Amino acid sequence: MINVSHLSKSFGDLLVLKDINIDIQRGEIISIIGPSGTGKSTFLRCLNLLEKPSGGTILIDGKDIMDPRNNANILRQKMEMVFQNFNLFEHLSVLENLTIGPMKLLKKSRAEAEEKARGLLKLVGLAAKEDAYPDELSGGQQQRVAIARCLSMDPEIILFDEPTSALDPTMVSEVLGVIRRLAADGMTMAIVTHEMKFARDLSTRVLYMDEGIIYEEGTPEEIFEHPQKVNTRAFIHRIRSFSYHIDQADFDFYDMRASLEAFCNKHFFNHSEINKLNMIVEETLQLCFKEGDFEIRNQLFQSSGGIDLAIEYAETTKDISIVFSADQEVLTILNQVEESDGISMTLLRGLTKSIDETEKEGKVVLTMLFTLSGI
Ligand code: ADP
Ligand code: MG
Repeated sequence: MINVSHLSKSFGDLLVLKDINIDIQRGEIISIIGPSGTGKSTFLRCLNLLEKPSGGTILIDGKDIMDPRNNANILRQKMEMVFQNFNLFEHLSVLENLTIGPMKLLKKSRAEAEEKARGLLKLVGLAAKEDAYPDELSGGQQQRVAIARCLSMDPEIILFDEPTSALDPTMVSEVLGVIRRLAADGMTMAIVTHEMKFARDLSTRVLYMDEGIIYEEGTPEEIFEHPQKVNTRAFIHRIRSFSYHIDQADFDFYDMRASLEAFCNKHFFNHSEINKLNMIVEETLQLCFKEGDFEIRNQLFQSSGGIDLAIEYAETTKDISIVFSADQEVLTILNQVEESDGISMTLLRGLTKSIDETEKEGKVVLTMLFTLSGI
């Protein structure tokens, strides 16, 4: 139904869409997710020519909508868009909002347009509101009117741009309910949304947009359960990360601890979880500094570039990984220390789910995993 190839769009020097390629078939329900500012709205706006693409082609049923020989208006009528902020005509009643398009653009009679409008208002649960004005309605009701107004134009596909993000939480479900109903009726839809559960339940395909492209796409299960690429995983699991570089053996311990605690507090770790994390980090560092003469170790430490500490916390699963990486001479915990410092090692093993030491690009990488229990 829609074929997009090599679509690009820039605003001045800002290249927002680099190279978008996608086919949308009739009956598909496509969710578009991704960080804000990655061009999701711009993509939808290019699709129905609210923005003029900078390059590439968009075909609807095989016809190029940017070709002046094709009547873009007729092609665009196949597509309607629902906006974040409803965009109703404030000076028109609900019924008039639904009849003006069909009368002016589809040349329907008033009687025909009103009959259809009343049916649609019933569909979205607002039959009693036909004489109300938009400012007399709640946000959720306005958005349902906006959806009914789209439907009044007999579209073949509806584009939704974050239809619930301007709503109070209590009104989100009434709008999602209407969208679910359209899905059940077989309407083709593309929905930009932050409602992950909704996207997962409803869509036939999920597009993750990032870096100006469709960075990863797949079924809801593929994208939400098994994202393959690094940005998708970080987005889906809402990974928060903390890093700290330790450049000498007598580094500023209090500064590190304060930074780590600030990170923990920002993500609402409770007191005992913060203590646990602190203990893991401190015990591990102590093991690094235990062996041998301090001065020699310190020199070794500085000449080798120190230790990098990286902590990643996945908000969805509550999994935490603590990763230390350094040169071999500095970080030799598992193999060397095990016998000589059984107590620390036992403690670390008790605090974590797993401890693993590998070599990567000439560095020793020590990874410890654990899962937050209460937060
Ligand atoms: P998203 O919907 O994914 O949050 P947008 O498509 O709204 O992202 O915006 C992508 C980028 O394009 C942003 O950096 C935004 O500031 C910029 N942008 C969007 N519309 C315009 C415009 N009309 N003029 C200039 N820059 C724009
Ligand atoms: Mg947007």
